[in-house]
Amino acid sequence: MKKTVELYEGKAKKVFDTDIEGVVIVSYKDDATALDGLKKGTIMGKGAINNRISNYLMQLLEKEGIPTHFVRELNDRETAVKKVSIVPLEVIVRNISAGSFSKRYGVEEGIVFEEPTIEFSYKNDALHDPLLNAYHAVALDLADKTEIQHIKLLAFRINYILKEFFKTRNIKLVDFKMEFGRLPDGTIVLADEISPDTCRFWDYDTNQKLDKDRFRRDMGGVEDAYEEMYRRVFG
Ligand code: UDP
Repeated sequence: MKKTVELYEGKAKKVFDTDIEGVVIVSYKDDATALDGLKKGTIMGKGAINNRISNYLMQLLEKEGIPTHFVRELNDRETAVKKVSIVPLEVIVRNISAGSFSKRYGVEEGIVFEEPTIEFSYKNDALHDPLLNAYHAVALDLADKTEIQHIKLLAFRINYILKEFFKTRNIKLVDFKMEFGRLPDGTIVLADEISPDTCRFWDYDTNQKLDKDRFRRDMGGVEDAYEEMYRRVFG
């Protein structure tokens, strides 16, 4: 498989077209942004760690019957994935209060929910990814009703699988963000990445943060946290 043209450069990844129909290559960068792009930096080694963790999790999910964009890991930083059209929604599932949930509703971090929650944001940088509900998403034609219903079911199932997996690694999956894409035939698949950039991971015993919050909140030990998550996943 050969890279042809660069299709897109985002904050943490580049996407290249390939000589194979329907397949693109994602290349993970060490660049990190936070706080709506206001904070920029580099997390050494992050690209390779996120690439490998995300691929591991996508394959785990595939084994459990979740359709994903994953095709094949090419090297440390690069992975071949199915070309999809991204549904412009950030789908966030939470098991424990943290981050914007705690801020918005004025509650402490660390409240374990009886049931997981789900929320959607409109993926739109100019509007700063506003929160919206399923009716808004349908009204804006971001997805149809059936797709939203399907995405919800997939999101909760993915949460269950990942939560159970991370428990075996002594990690609490606090919350995480997913993106879904459509294949040419309309099938919805899990896309983007699942990594310490897009999940909150807390050590099961100490609640030590092992994710991008260390970067967002200038806590130090950012690289160490990513490396620790790599070790927890791969043993
Ligand atoms: N998240 C993400 N990208 C975003 C916003 C959030 O990957 O643009 C992830 C984040 O890492 C966390 C979860 O989604 O695991 C919930 O984030 P939250 O809404 O609490 O926002 P934050 O506090 O990160 O601004």
